[in-house]
Amino acid sequence: MKINICLLYGGKSAEHEVSLQTAKAVIKALDTNKFAIHPIFISNEGKWIKGPELLGPIENVKELEFQNGGVEVGPNALSTNLTPEQKGSYDVVFPLLHGPNGEDGTVQGMLELLNIPYVGNGVLASSAGMDKVIMKNLFAQAGLDQVKYVSFIRSTWVSDPERAYHQVESEISYPCFVKPANLGSSVGISKCENREELADAFVEAFQYDRKVIIEEGVTAREIEVGVLGNDFPECSVAGEIVPKKGFYDYESKYSDGDTALIIPADISDDQYNELARMAVKAFKALDCSGLARADFFVTKEGRIIINEVNTMPGFTPFSMFPLLWKHTGVEYPDLIERLVQLAMKRHEEKQ
Ligand code: ATP
Ligand code: MG
Ligand code: MG
Ligand code: MG
Repeated sequence: MKINICLLYGGKSAEHEVSLQTAKAVIKALDTNKFAIHPIFISNEGKWIKGPELLGPIENVKELEFQNGGVEVGPNALSTNLTPEQKGSYDVVFPLLHGPNGEDGTVQGMLELLNIPYVGNGVLASSAGMDKVIMKNLFAQAGLDQVKYVSFIRSTWVSDPERAYHQVESEISYPCFVKPANLGSSVGISKCENREELADAFVEAFQYDRKVIIEEGVTAREIEVGVLGNDFPECSVAGEIVPKKGFYDYESKYSDGDTALIIPADISDDQYNELARMAVKAFKALDCSGLARADFFVTKEGRIIINEVNTMPGFTPFSMFPLLWKHTGVEYPDLIERLVQLAMKRHEEKQ
């Protein structure tokens, strides 16, 4: 019997296009002797379109939108029979979604209610990992070294902006980074050097979220580690990101291709061991399972600071997480199978 795997991709997020690229690559990597692939596309408007079972790789991501022959369904499509002949539901769902409504525990909660195994982090880790303030509070409790941060909700800022800026200046100072609390891919993030930029950055970040976080800016190398597993997580080799200009913003992530990924990162064994220790600690602090990518800053003085954990890191074959595992000896198709096994195992253990 083949494993019926449902791929959920697209989504109403800034990472919609990336998700399509991921779906294309995952379909190509899945062994069709082992898996029956059931696609569900979520449009930019939030429509769920179910396509026919896919029997092999597809040429063009456009085909994944099922403009002809797709059936509009709702999220409850996950609970219904696959076809009239097939009883029961999917054996496993792989949410290839990033950002709010995909990576933040909402889809995960629905899958919990439906009692279907799914790849990646559960509800708590997903939602805690999506909110940078909650995440940092949990890291602080775990004793992980971080930059200083403060946070504001929109209504506090609206009622007295000057006071908010003053607090940032006295507690954080410049340069600082202003970020929407719940987002990824650097969307809505600004680096500020003065009060004027700070005010603009608040306006920008509050367009995306009702909560923002302001962090002390550091000058440091950016090193990332992949984590894979459930109760006994393993770490990949470390990789370094070298943005060619400014910081690692949305542009450099997806368009200009001007960012170098150096794998493995040129660091000492001691530094690697510390990064791996902290990555596992961060993984456990959020109660992660399946996978995560832990992002760090490493200063010239050798201070290792955790920046964040991403619970659904970029997952195209050219993204950091799969590349880190490739260099660790786990090829893309094997990585996907490991994740499916981890999903099934977590589900069994819960019952
Ligand atoms: P993603 O989930 O895609 O990794 P994100 O939206 O969660 O991104 P961050 O990783 O927090 O955002 O920040 C994006 C980039 O901004 C970092 O990779 C780094 O280049 C820069 N940056 C963020 N915070 C700081 C900081 N405190 N000091 C220096 N640089 C920072
Ligand atoms: Mg992130
Ligand atoms: Mg992200
Ligand atoms: Mg990051």
